[in-house]
Amino acid sequence: MASIVRLHVDHPLAQGQTVPVDGGQAHYLFGVMRLSVDAEVRLFNGRDGEWAARVTEAGRKRGALTCLAQSAPQLDPPDLWLLFAPIKKARTDFIVEKATELGAARILPVLTDYTNSERVRVDRLQAHAIEAAEQCGGTYVPEVAEPQKLSKVLDDWDRGRMILHCDEETAGSGMTPGLEQFRPGDPWAVLIGPEGGFSPAERRRLDTDLRGSVLRYSLGPRILRADTAAVAALTLWQASLGDWR
Ligand code: SAH
Repeated sequence: MASIVRLHVDHPLAQGQTVPVDGGQAHYLFGVMRLSVDAEVRLFNGRDGEWAARVTEAGRKRGALTCLAQSAPQLDPPDLWLLFAPIKKARTDFIVEKATELGAARILPVLTDYTNSERVRVDRLQAHAIEAAEQCGGTYVPEVAEPQKLSKVLDDWDRGRMILHCDEETAGSGMTPGLEQFRPGDPWAVLIGPEGGFSPAERRRLDTDLRGSVLRYSLGPRILRADTAAVAALTLWQASLGDWR
């Protein structure tokens, strides 16, 4: 049996609620997936959990879905942000997709001293996050923030949020302390640099000025590409302090 279509919508979801669909979503449901009246789908909006719904109207350009019953409760990820320096388009897309699957609460592209990437299209990245959530069974979609300079983000940093600073300079140093020593439930951010790595000024900023809020961290003896590093760091954090426990 084909798996049931999961769709992210903006509309509120509740028992008996009718959700109109049009545009790209109507084309996808009724054109591509060929769903007709009475077909079952699953809906989520990032707030109300997942709902089983039935197609009650299926036109070429618009249709309607009616919520039957909640099929899964709302599950929000732990308070973990991903800060990463945008790289090539396909790799940046990969990072957003994987961060969504791995349960990041917020994704912040940061422009670092050695960042050299094309313009970041936040709307495209947000659409990737939505698609990843639809695909992985999640009920939460992380916000993809507008890119900001790392220096500005650090100026405004709330020191109660720990930064897991994945620093390529620590490769092979064994500086990989167990994260279990930290308190579960506290807010964190993973920070991943660009292909060029971090500048001396950025290291000073993080490791001296923000000392106490930054954990300089090694991801092993090899230099990872930024996309691999993001997946590895989010995995480690989730397994030690996050919702995998
Ligand atoms: N050009 C740099 C490598 C940058 S790798 C060099 O040759 O040294 C891109 C990013 O991935 C880094 O900024 C860092 O955040 C992360 N990273 C890669 N390997 C790592 C490692 N072994 N430990 C910690 N972070 C790592």
